Amino acid sequence: AKEEGRNNFQFFVPEMNFRVDLLFSMEKDLRLALERGELFLQYQPQADLASGTLSGVEALIRWDHPVKGQVSPAEFIPVAEETGQIVAIGEWVLRTACSQMAEWRKTGMHDLTIAVNLSIRQLRQPDLAELIKSVLLETGLDARHLELEITEGIMMGDNQAAFRFLSEMQDLGVQLSIDDFGTGFSSLNYLKQMPVNKLKIDQSFIRDIETDEGDAAIIRSIISLGHRLNLRVIAEGVETQEQLDFLRIRGCDEIQGYFYSRPLLAEDFMRFVKAPPRL
Ligand code: C2E
Ligand code: CA
Ligand code: CA
Ligand code: CA
Repeated sequence: AKEEGRNNFQFFVPEMNFRVDLLFSMEKDLRLALERGELFLQYQPQADLASGTLSGVEALIRWDHPVKGQVSPAEFIPVAEETGQIVAIGEWVLRTACSQMAEWRKTGMHDLTIAVNLSIRQLRQPDLAELIKSVLLETGLDARHLELEITEGIMMGDNQAAFRFLSEMQDLGVQLSIDDFGTGFSSLNYLKQMPVNKLKIDQSFIRDIETDEGDAAIIRSIISLGHRLNLRVIAEGVETQEQLDFLRIRGCDEIQGYFYSRPLLAEDFMRFVKAPPRL
């Protein structure tokens, strides 16, 4: 067994080096990305199902790498979380998204909310609440028009601090939603205590909504749980009319997904707003 262990170890060494190299080069590239302005945001519209109209947008980060082209956030956000760069990147996202929404509101866009994703690593920064307050002040965006998307993992570790942060945000009027709901392992007891406004059903449950009875049951349960706790429920990754119909019949409040719109560049979103499809 000892012999085997050693062999395994030797086998993994080159791969570990490879991974470390990759992390280092991505870290350097990401630092340059911030400096050179290679990062930008896209905005994905969300629709309210009761009225069938546009209700908000989620800001999603994009990276136009000079050599690799578009790098997916699914690839670089985890690296930025590991290196700690997510703190600076997240601050840039927050500021950019809030100032964009403040600008849009000046041009007469009605009651839209901008949702910004927060990493656990950002939430662990003791000055996050101060940062958010100063960004709102700076950009002139009303707190009611900012929504923060957090994941269930926030309640792991120091949940006292997390709880304080969420309460402070709610007191300000900032909306809070739990992203990827159903994929983490938050206990229902936490959920009951957590000051949040919205549950976002993870897209993995939506994909096979019509064929997978387990997924359909989970969705129905999340919607009724959310409503019993006085939370709004949004489904993400909605791609078809059938998925939309299923969700509407079960009382889901909002949807987001390719069926309504792909994530859009700011200028394309301006065009979308002029004639959004009615659901
Ligand atoms: P997420 O927060 O769950 O965002 C939803 C993802 O689903 C986005 O992927 C979006 O483009 C994609 N999507 C939207 N509608 C559909 C659909 O109908 N079908 C399918 N198949 N996909 C759909 P994206 O933009 O690649 O982002 C991936 C993840 O990266 C996000 O997942 C989020 O966890 C993270 N991320 C993106 N932007 C930020 C950011 O500014 N800060 C942080 N911390 N994380 C971010
Ligand atoms: Ca999200
Ligand atoms: Ca999600
Ligand atoms: Ca996700």
